[in-house]
Amino acid sequence: MTNWHSITKEEALRELDSALTGLTKKEAAKRQRKYGFNLLETKKKTPLFLRFISQFKDFMILTLIFAALVSFFVSFLHGELDFVEPAIIILIITLNAVLGVLQESKAEKSLEALQKMSAPAALVMREGVIENIDAKELVPGDIIYLETGHFVPADARLLTAVNLKIDEASLTGESHPIEKDSDTVLKENILPAERINMVAATGIVTYGRGTAMVTATGMHTEVGHIARLIMEDETPMTPLQKRLAATGKVLGIAALIICIIIFLIGILKNRPIFEMFMTAVSLAVAAIPEGLPAIVTIMLSLGVQRMAKKNAVIRKLPAVETLGSATVICSDKTGTLTQNKMTVTEICSSKGKEAPDGSTGKLLLTLASLCNDAILQTSGKRKHQTVSATGEPTENALIMAAYQVGLNKPQLDLLHPRIYEIPFDSARKQMTTIHRLPDGGYRQITKGAFDILLSECTNVYRGNRDTPITHTLREQLIRLNEGMTAKALRVIAVAYKDYSADSSFPARLKNNNGTQKDRTARLEQGLTLAGLIGMIDPPRPEVREAVLTCQMAGITPVMITGDHVSTACAIAKELGILTKESSMAELRAAEITSGHSTYNSSIPQAMTGAELSQITQEELVERIKNYRVFARVSPEHKVRIVKALQARGEVVAMTGDGVNDAPALKAADIGCAMGITGTDVAKNAADMILTDDNFATIVAAVKEGRGIYDNIKKAVHFLLSCNIGEILTIFVAIIFGLPSPLIAVQLLWVNLVTDSLPAISLGVDPPDKDIMKKKPNSPDKGMFSDGLTVKIITEGILIGSLALLAFIIGIRFFDSAALPGDLTRNSRTVELAALTTPYIGRTMAFAVLSLSQLFHSFNMRSEHSITKIGLFTNIKLVLSFIVCAFLQVIVISVKPLADIFKVVPLTPAQWSIVLVLSFLPIVVVELQKSKRNK
Ligand code: ATP
Repeated sequence: MTNWHSITKEEALRELDSALTGLTKKEAAKRQRKYGFNLLETKKKTPLFLRFISQFKDFMILTLIFAALVSFFVSFLHGELDFVEPAIIILIITLNAVLGVLQESKAEKSLEALQKMSAPAALVMREGVIENIDAKELVPGDIIYLETGHFVPADARLLTAVNLKIDEASLTGESHPIEKDSDTVLKENILPAERINMVAATGIVTYGRGTAMVTATGMHTEVGHIARLIMEDETPMTPLQKRLAATGKVLGIAALIICIIIFLIGILKNRPIFEMFMTAVSLAVAAIPEGLPAIVTIMLSLGVQRMAKKNAVIRKLPAVETLGSATVICSDKTGTLTQNKMTVTEICSSKGKEAPDGSTGKLLLTLASLCNDAILQTSGKRKHQTVSATGEPTENALIMAAYQVGLNKPQLDLLHPRIYEIPFDSARKQMTTIHRLPDGGYRQITKGAFDILLSECTNVYRGNRDTPITHTLREQLIRLNEGMTAKALRVIAVAYKDYSADSSFPARLKNNNGTQKDRTARLEQGLTLAGLIGMIDPPRPEVREAVLTCQMAGITPVMITGDHVSTACAIAKELGILTKESSMAELRAAEITSGHSTYNSSIPQAMTGAELSQITQEELVERIKNYRVFARVSPEHKVRIVKALQARGEVVAMTGDGVNDAPALKAADIGCAMGITGTDVAKNAADMILTDDNFATIVAAVKEGRGIYDNIKKAVHFLLSCNIGEILTIFVAIIFGLPSPLIAVQLLWVNLVTDSLPAISLGVDPPDKDIMKKKPNSPDKGMFSDGLTVKIITEGILIGSLALLAFIIGIRFFDSAALPGDLTRNSRTVELAALTTPYIGRTMAFAVLSLSQLFHSFNMRSEHSITKIGLFTNIKLVLSFIVCAFLQVIVISVKPLADIFKVVPLTPAQWSIVLVLSFLPIVVVELQKSKRNK
């Protein structure tokens, strides 16, 4: 095995037959066949058969199987071998298990698909062209690019490294990022943690950049050796699922108690033990909402798929629910609220506006192009040649503006080669490069945020001579900047410093003692300010409406930006985040730059990072409700903002893209990472990824989240009220000494077949039109607040009474048995009490129970009348109704099926009674709704 760290980079390239231009595509494909995908093996999946078996582990299902066996055994003792009932029970349970496995795999598949969507990418050079590919496609010999915030996709030998620092804590346990160096050649037997010329898969680039050649992929990497230790966690249950599981348990226990009571009453009344046992089991079946957990999982995973289509990729399932409760959305400005399409519109020197093609304008654009990492690309044939820039939008705008006045970045770079750099960083808000000049001297260029750079400048450029910055000049410059920012321009200040020819200068720069911070501070001072460049980044057109939607939905949008406070306020006003009255904010901006701060207004305002640093967390919690814009903040401030909002009881969504944003994304209730500009680290820390980086997507996701929550609530409401109806029907009948109106097979049929379809259809109910006009769901209150429990119980009583009424009408008028009373009083009643006897009363109860529930499903759709929302707005529910009603009629009317379900065909008159009774829940609930909405 090659020790990649102990050979030179040239030897390494030769060893793997690679080159700086990368592998050819053909060679890469060949190597992929040889080495396989760059993936870590994950846990083996449970085989289908075992997953099917595990469906039977449920306590209730086991009880049912036991009941089926007992029923078979008892009929055997009676000398009549009845296979039908146990067979039907087993059949329905098996059907349920099959459905369970199908639903599980569907949910699993959609989660897998999502994981694929958020799979890490890698920048690779193949055939001389840089491509962004799925990291799993990497092969040994590939040349990869490492950039701040990205994961290291495979083990690799460094070829170049510029201030490159890598956090390898997940592999080596070393908590500090390690400074890497591509030129060193190390001894052979050195520990992985000390191999500074290598990078290892799963490392995070925390600073700088570099290129490297992949040496090992997938299970052959260092991390691959320990892969089994770091396998993914199981998908956790969402809070709602946990709460429902708990509700299910409570219901289970309640059912058991009721079963025991009924059993005891039956025994006291001298009813046959077997009959009472079967009744108790049917009751248990009725009480347990078997379909509930599965339906919730399906709804969540379907919702997640719908959200993915709308550009919001959910990484953690609980986020779907939390989204519905969001009360504040803190959003980055650039790219999320704005288009991130910067265009230079103004260039100023200390004297004022300059023409871009004038000598000062050109000097500024030259400096801004040199201190710049964007790449100018030419494509197309001669006549139709187009020039574009790839890189960070701010930098793209600068080199494009330079190109338009005839300054070509690649040529400028050749003339003034870069010998040193300190990359841009959103905490420092500036970057520095040092170039060799044609005359042998050196020029340092620093560009960045005006207010920060100004304090590092001692002179301004004035044509041939530099002028020291006096107090008046400083004021003048501040006003100049204010004028630009008030027009919503992002301002980049450009400064420089010249060094005379000295051959040891480059070496001194690199070997400078002290930390990176000291070196940076030493360089970024005593500069000459060349001027200011202003660029516009127009707001995204759809955001204004999204902001309005938020405000109507009781959600406060907050802007968080690294930009200047006036730029931020100008855009916030345009978008409606700050209202027009809050021209206060402008006032504040002026106050801040002039150094006076007079906070005493409740009008939404802007706060700067500097101010935020000065106040304590308690003060921030106290004041935060007045602020809608946080400007010139650093990523660390975001955590404080999230925590302060949470301390006020807000549910916070927060966006982020950089490495330093990860803590804020984790701290937020819903961390949203940018899909396009976001780093792997941010994506990994987030609950949701916005594939289009758009604020409007968050709002759309909140709407989806609220819709899903509402639909789950509808399904829970529906299933529980139906189950209560079923329990009551049997419980009341037994108490009053009537035969059991429903038998186990019928209850199973209603619960597992005719209940499930409408419940699933409720899960895809389109959201209420006014869903974004309501307040956010309160996470503390839970689902069963707002009178849901009362509704469930009263509607359950209604359904139970109707089924019981149908039963009584049936046995009294059509089966002509005695009612109510002692079973021994009338021989006909005794005969009907036998569980195996089919008769009209039981048939009518069965039909009313099933059909009234089907009608009742339409009640769930909205707080408003069904006539208002329209019957056909959820076509799936209408179809479920038709299919289930049809099946119900078939089961009763087709002789062999009727025999199995122990029912008898009904006459038109009996069907009419069934229909009238079944329709009543709609009438009653509609009356209630009209009373409530008055
Ligand atoms: P937002 O937080 O709204 O998304 P942002 O993250 O783009 O904004 P930063 O990137 O932190 O904000 O930029 C803050 C400031 O740093 C800008 O106002 C600008 O003055 C300066 N700046 C931005 N990009 C560069 C760059 N490439 N080089 C030098 N300075 C820059």
